[in-house]
Amino acid sequence: MEQFSMLIGGRSVDAISGKTFESQNPYTGENWATIPDGGPEDVDAAVAAARSAFEGEWGAMTGFARAACLRRLGDLIGQDAERLAKLEVNDSGKLYREMLGQLNGLGGWYHYFAGLADKIEGAQIPSPNPNYLVYTRREPIGVVAAITPWNSPLLLMTFKLAPLLAAGCTVVIKPSEHAPASTLGFAELIEKAGFPAGTVNVVTGLSRETGAHLAGHPGVDKVAFTGSTATGKHVGQAAMENLNPVTLELGGKSPQVVFADADLQAAANGLVAGVFAATGQTCMAGSRLIVHADVHDELVRLVAERAASIKLGNPMDAETEMGPVANQPQYEKVLGYLDKAREEGATIAYGGVAEESLGSYFVQPTVLSVKPTDTVYREEVFGPVLSAVTFTDEDEAIKLANDTPYGLAGAVWTKDIHRGHRIAGKIRAGTVWINAYRAIAPSVPFGGFKQSGLGRENGLNGIDAYLETKAVWVELTGGTRDPFTLG
Ligand code: NAD
Repeated sequence: MEQFSMLIGGRSVDAISGKTFESQNPYTGENWATIPDGGPEDVDAAVAAARSAFEGEWGAMTGFARAACLRRLGDLIGQDAERLAKLEVNDSGKLYREMLGQLNGLGGWYHYFAGLADKIEGAQIPSPNPNYLVYTRREPIGVVAAITPWNSPLLLMTFKLAPLLAAGCTVVIKPSEHAPASTLGFAELIEKAGFPAGTVNVVTGLSRETGAHLAGHPGVDKVAFTGSTATGKHVGQAAMENLNPVTLELGGKSPQVVFADADLQAAANGLVAGVFAATGQTCMAGSRLIVHADVHDELVRLVAERAASIKLGNPMDAETEMGPVANQPQYEKVLGYLDKAREEGATIAYGGVAEESLGSYFVQPTVLSVKPTDTVYREEVFGPVLSAVTFTDEDEAIKLANDTPYGLAGAVWTKDIHRGHRIAGKIRAGTVWINAYRAIAPSVPFGGFKQSGLGRENGLNGIDAYLETKAVWVELTGGTRDPFTLG
């Protein structure tokens, strides 16, 4: 068993209660790591440490000095990518080859936001009254609560951590109880990168109460959350109790719209990337295939053929293409959706069941043809399940694409350049790919329309979520004025 500690105030600590819990490797089914079971009292200590760093050494550092820390952290992640990728695989069953690629690229987020840390500028504002010089300052919002889910914990944490550090904030991070180890392993790099004690704190806990206590903590100034829409609503309400701003990155049920003129081989490949990569456990999973009736059979056949050849197995093996579902509750949830799909009359082109020969939590990649009213087509499965419906004209395709409470992502597949851009403009989602799927970058805004979230992460404006604007008025004449008038 590997032992992990929390990071609070620059020290590696156990939970105050001394309690621990164990993290299970979903591939082997064995518990592999001992994790501190932090509770509200640990959250209180972490928030106090973050406040003290904000009011102390970190808060006094210039953007140039913060940028240097961020650059060092980015470099350290690159050097430690293998160790961190293995932690992610052990925790969540994701493919080593995907996680290694993700970790090798992760430093890029810190380098990108390091480039912004020393460019946070206010403006000189024209005043209608010549007696005043007015300017704005962009100041860090303060102590941030960052709460993350179990799929890609380090990537989704980084969407918050890199910009908030660039802005000059401090943070308490609470990773998911289902995949806590990689964030604790990552925390070991914080001191090496030169961040003052208390700038970054990590608290883990088995109970969801730990996250709830953090989200509603009166000592934090901003809440940044990635997770399910249902939890996101609770988090938003808790933040609002303190009138704290909140960034929410939530669930999705993203459409992939395929026109009859599309390159069907490329579309099939994009569908596989969209819904079977990461065993379908991504917020941006392209889980609804909306395909022109003329090419439905051909495309479903192509995707089903590729699904049949997907190599399931040990996520550490280089040839494996799909690992297990990340944990037992999620495994049961996915199988429940497959039962429901059968009950509601879905046609199964491939899969539809657990892959019991491999033990633990394997589910076959599944390709279904369904009705737009079917549960599996409407709700977020968060597993390797593609549900196809057909359309006959462009208006119907757009209507189907937008007929969802979610709006995280989507794609359009067509060779018609006019139509590609036209449809991209009409899909109500935060990201639309044309003839592509599942590409992201630190420089590109990411986030959801509708119930997929609130606010944007990444990109030049990603840092705004962690800054307050202050207006400063300077009286220029030195004279006295009528105190009973405004301005
Ligand atoms: P979840 O909502 O169950 O948990 C997310 C985090 O919130 C965990 O750390 C959990 O401990 C914590 N939490 C639970 N209850 C809480 C509460 N009341 N207050 C504060 N924190 C609380 O989500 P999950 O199952 O870990 O992750 C899967 C979900 O995340 C999916 O819906 C997926 O679409 C979504 N997701 C979204 C994005 C995105 O960027 N939009 C990315 C990845 C995952």
